Amino acid sequence: MHYDTIIVGGSYSGMAAALQLVRAHKSVLVIDAGERRNRFARQSHGFLAQDGADAAVIAANARRQLEAYPTLSWLEGRADAIDGDLDHFTVSIAGNEPRRGRRILLATGVSDQLPPIPGLVERWGKAVFHCPYCHGYELGSGRLGVIATGPMALHQAQFLTEWGEVTLLVNHALPLGTEDRADLERAGVTIEEVPIATLENHASVRLSDGRLLDFAGLFVAARCLPSSPLVEAPGCALEDAPMGMGKQIQIDAEHKTSVPGIFACGDVARFPHSVSLAVAHGAWAGAQIHRSLFASKFALPAQEAAAVR
Ligand code: FAD
Ligand code: MG
Repeated sequence: MHYDTIIVGGSYSGMAAALQLVRAHKSVLVIDAGERRNRFARQSHGFLAQDGADAAVIAANARRQLEAYPTLSWLEGRADAIDGDLDHFTVSIAGNEPRRGRRILLATGVSDQLPPIPGLVERWGKAVFHCPYCHGYELGSGRLGVIATGPMALHQAQFLTEWGEVTLLVNHALPLGTEDRADLERAGVTIEEVPIATLENHASVRLSDGRLLDFAGLFVAARCLPSSPLVEAPGCALEDAPMGMGKQIQIDAEHKTSVPGIFACGDVARFPHSVSLAVAHGAWAGAQIHRSLFASKFALPAQEAAAVR
């Protein structure tokens, strides 16, 4: 089988793209390793008509609806290489036959680069969050701690005062100038410069001087990097995400990467990140891939085009 499109990453953005393509009668293979970025959180917030729904259920419903289309194939596994070029790509998959396709869509997501604070990983998505729009409201305007990892924490701490009473936990992660201190004070942010020893209880911070600070929730503006090294292997250019927030795949307005025939969407190719934004990005990427397949129907084969010239 030579698929019209192989989509690597079958979460929100990849599935949104697949939906547009199968509805245009295109054959699509989705390869998915099953590690959605929000798998650490039970509930997903802020996605219209699904506010507060189980994040896994949203994904499972989407997959079930997609699999009802006869031109959709799904492979649970990890793609580990992409070779070939436009119209003739081959994707290698650990423990499986390679698959061939005319277009590739990278919807592989990002991974959060969390600071190495004992107790943080276990609380990620439960008491420690990245996005106030996703999890701020549920914290009931309580006390919030911002764990600094870099200059972005200054902005995050001030902005989070929209959701509660904020303490910036500097934790040696950024220098605070006189102006920064004045800005934080004006916003009503408490500054805590004693470094963090561990996280305890639900969302309490044990400082290295022994004090225990209790919070309703903690936030960390973690940098994000593409979750799979696969995205760079075929030569797709990366770019800096805005505000020093990490790296993402460079795409144009038609979702094309720097490699002809390879497209990208979702968290791995945009900032900021949410389910709604990933779904919109994926839907548009699917339509753009469809346009590219449609346009190639009328293009002359390369040899004929050369002869005409
Ligand atoms: P992802 O969901 O990250 O999916 C990428 C998929 O690609 C995964 O299934 C992965 O296994 C697969 N993959 C990667 N590499 C390969 C490979 N080589 N081969 C095969 N498959 C591969 N947003 C909200 O709107 N509301 C929320 O409440 C919310 N809560 C969040 C909670 C937490 C803790 C975190 C970290 C994020 C949260 N988000 C939330 C953000 C949201 O999870 C992301 O914006 C969204 O998941 C992005 O979707 P995506 O399809 O781009 O990527
Ligand atoms: Mg996806």
